[in-house]
Amino acid sequence: MSDLLYAGIEAGGTKFVVALGNSEGIRDCETIDTTTPAETLDNVIDWLDAASREHGRFEAIGIGSFGPVDLDRESASYGSITTTPKPGWQNVPLVQVFEERFGLPVGFDTDVNAAALGEHLYGAGQGIDPLVYLTVGTGVGGGVIVNGGPLHGLLHPEMGHLLVPAPQTPGVVDPRCQCPFHESCLEGFVCGPAIAKRWGVAKAAALPAGAPAWEEVGETLAHGLVNITVTLSPRRIIVGGGVLKGPGLLDTARRHFQRLLNNYLRVPQITDDVGNYIVAPGLGDWAGVRGALALAERADEE
Ligand code: ADP
Ligand code: ZN
Repeated sequence: MSDLLYAGIEAGGTKFVVALGNSEGIRDCETIDTTTPAETLDNVIDWLDAASREHGRFEAIGIGSFGPVDLDRESASYGSITTTPKPGWQNVPLVQVFEERFGLPVGFDTDVNAAALGEHLYGAGQGIDPLVYLTVGTGVGGGVIVNGGPLHGLLHPEMGHLLVPAPQTPGVVDPRCQCPFHESCLEGFVCGPAIAKRWGVAKAAALPAGAPAWEEVGETLAHGLVNITVTLSPRRIIVGGGVLKGPGLLDTARRHFQRLLNNYLRVPQITDDVGNYIVAPGLGDWAGVRGALALAERADEE
């Protein structure tokens, strides 16, 4: 086992988590509020400088970022956050900033691909390939591991925007899909802010167990999970994020997932053992930053 240290950065829309560590685990870590790009990145760099004075030099940097991001190495904007609605963060060249400041290899991917990699290497997806990691929190996003690494394509998976039937539960305060782009997408109904808006509460967590909202969220989530399963044929789907703290949600989603598939896919993993097919994360909130450390290690090996 290697003693080399790497830097991992989970770049989120509300906070950045920055860590020093390696495949063994995290040596030191800090959370930094996401404000302006200049201030946030300065704080990340200052922390890395201080942490490396304390723990020793690091070999490479890995970044898992909110997005959309440009992962095309041939593109002029490779390594940037691109069209995010987050004010001030459009076209921020994350990779370039860290390459220029530290002169080290920088691995780069989406936050959810990084989390999928973390779970694949160290968490609930070890040895599982293809693997999907879906997070349902402030937004909805999904990452995919296939052939041992994150799936990239034309862009990168954007599973939050899977189109799903609009739920029809009576009694909602605001029936609209909350996504500004789509009439009826997963994120527009099941991310935390969408649930709150839909049911007229300040926070999704304020809805009690047994509220019709939770049945609806589980069912809508199941539509997304079915679409993921029939498209990518993953061997497991990990579902995390703050919304999954909602009462019984994972079980509700599993139940609707089986019902909607209607025995079409006759594999025991789905018909008999769905509890091991749709699972909670093994690394809790650490998947992203552990995955970012793995991205650093892989960038160093390249
Ligand atoms: P982020 O997506 O910003 O990384 P999280 O994954 O922690 O953060 O998700 C935050 C979202 O989860 C918020 O919209 C919040 O309302 C929701 N949430 C947090 N706790 C609960 C809970 N107990 N039940 C339902 N939703 C929750
Ligand atoms: Zn959408």
